[in-house]
Amino acid sequence: MQPLAKNSFNPAAGLDSASADINKIMRLSYGTEIDYQRLAYEAGEIWKSWNKQIELGTNNLPAGLEKEDKLWYSTGMLRMSATEDYGEFELRTLENMQKEGLREMQYMCDNPEDILRARSRGWGQKLDPLDKKKRLGYNTAVLDSTAGFVAADKACHWVWHLCQRAGVHFVQDPTRGKVTQIVDDGDKVIGIKTADGLEHHSDMVIVACGGWTPTLIPEVRSLLETTAGSVATIHIDEVTMPHLWQKYAPENMPVLTWGMKEGKGVYMLPRTKEGVIKFGYRATKWTNYDTVGDGQRISVPKTAHVTDKKESNIPKKSLNSIKEFISINTPDLLPLEFSATKLCWYTDSIDNSFVIDHVPNKPGMFVCSGGSGHGFKFLPILGREIVPILEGRGQDTVYGKMWRWREDKALTLGNKRNGLQEGEGGPRVLAKQDMASPRDWRVNSEASRL
Ligand SMILES: Cc1cc2nc3c(=O)[nH]c(=O)nc-3n(C[C@H](O)[C@H](O)[C@H](O)COP(=O)(O)OP(=O)(O)OC[C@H]3O[C@@H](n4cnc5c(N)ncnc54)[C@H](O)[C@@H]3O)c2cc1C
Repeated sequence: MQPLAKNSFNPAAGLDSASADINKIMRLSYGTEIDYQRLAYEAGEIWKSWNKQIELGTNNLPAGLEKEDKLWYSTGMLRMSATEDYGEFELRTLENMQKEGLREMQYMCDNPEDILRARSRGWGQKLDPLDKKKRLGYNTAVLDSTAGFVAADKACHWVWHLCQRAGVHFVQDPTRGKVTQIVDDGDKVIGIKTADGLEHHSDMVIVACGGWTPTLIPEVRSLLETTAGSVATIHIDEVTMPHLWQKYAPENMPVLTWGMKEGKGVYMLPRTKEGVIKFGYRATKWTNYDTVGDGQRISVPKTAHVTDKKESNIPKKSLNSIKEFISINTPDLLPLEFSATKLCWYTDSIDNSFVIDHVPNKPGMFVCSGGSGHGFKFLPILGREIVPILEGRGQDTVYGKMWRWREDKALTLGNKRNGLQEGEGGPRVLAKQDMASPRDWRVNSEASRL
């Protein structure tokens, strides 16, 4: 419903979707979830081929994409513990990597054999780019050389271009492109109504509206909840900060994650060519309850631009966790200020697996959602798995089974429903948080007290 393509999906142009973002992490590490690991591996091969296609100018690049642009950056990812202990998830991930023949591309940063192998393959400098062994006395981390990040906005622009060439018609307009209602004839769904008052009829309505999906499909609310991740950025300047510019460049800095098992839940992506370093906090995913069209109170997005009620700040708890990350891991950024903060809206499912299926008892309606904070990396490959499900011949595939409508499971999981059970009374509600404001943007203002 926003003019995404006109703005090259660039979030700086006031675009609010989860996908219109400067970058997203691409990883294969999935603990025991080997089917996601495999899918990510296959997606990775397509990301690489897209880089090649853009470099060669294949498919006539759209305005806004240059041959020099890359979608996929093979920077590696350093999964850092906040303590000297690796933890279960890490050990299970390494076991699965072993099973799939990928272990040799993982480097435990304090394992002499792995260190030697990393050095011989040119990854040595990324084992401890933050000098933690010297500064803190330990560097409990695994460098995953198969991971990195993708330029999300550019990737959306590229895919939009490919779809257009394949004949897809987009209506990215705040009125003509905004669905206000799913229309049915009493027996089945027959189309949509848009904000200009027009009805559009179709054989099938596919709803893939990210955090807005539960607003449009009441039935899905027992399976999906809209929650917010917190993002903050720091801008570094090439001319006045040449050392930081070099240090945080993707060539020298991997994606960093820190304290995932210890509840710190902060990650950082290397600087972009514009000098933006992005931090994310995902230990707590915030909810925002409001009354929607059918009178129910559910969690809905609250963004900086597109929603009626607006928010560009993040909770102090999120910002302070990011400051703590900086004070321990990247203290040379302490003298700086954040340049922006934002809430980025996830659609969490009850078990963090996607929900891609026909909506039961609603013939004519299909849902594709539940990205649960890890969906973007699969952009090149999701369609391959979705089409058979849509056509009714993919329900028994590995992914058809994983992503199917699982009302039964939702009911039996009791309290263990990924936070969906908390509702408006829960502790993650945004309205209950102390919000940070630009007054809190000096990085060292809180960190010095931690
Ligand atoms: C903070 C954060 C960090 C993340 N990090 C990663 C990561 O590192 N790696 C990774 O793989 N994934 C990551 N994800 C997950 C990933 O971003 C999502 O899974 C993916 O972007 C979801 O895409 P989507 O198209 O379903 O939703 P969105 O990108 O949110 O798009 C939804 C679209 O629906 C449109 N829409 C909404 N309502 C209507 C309506 N009524 N009518 C018409 N259109 C409508 C919106 O305008 C929007 O364009 C992250 C997500 C967040 C929030």
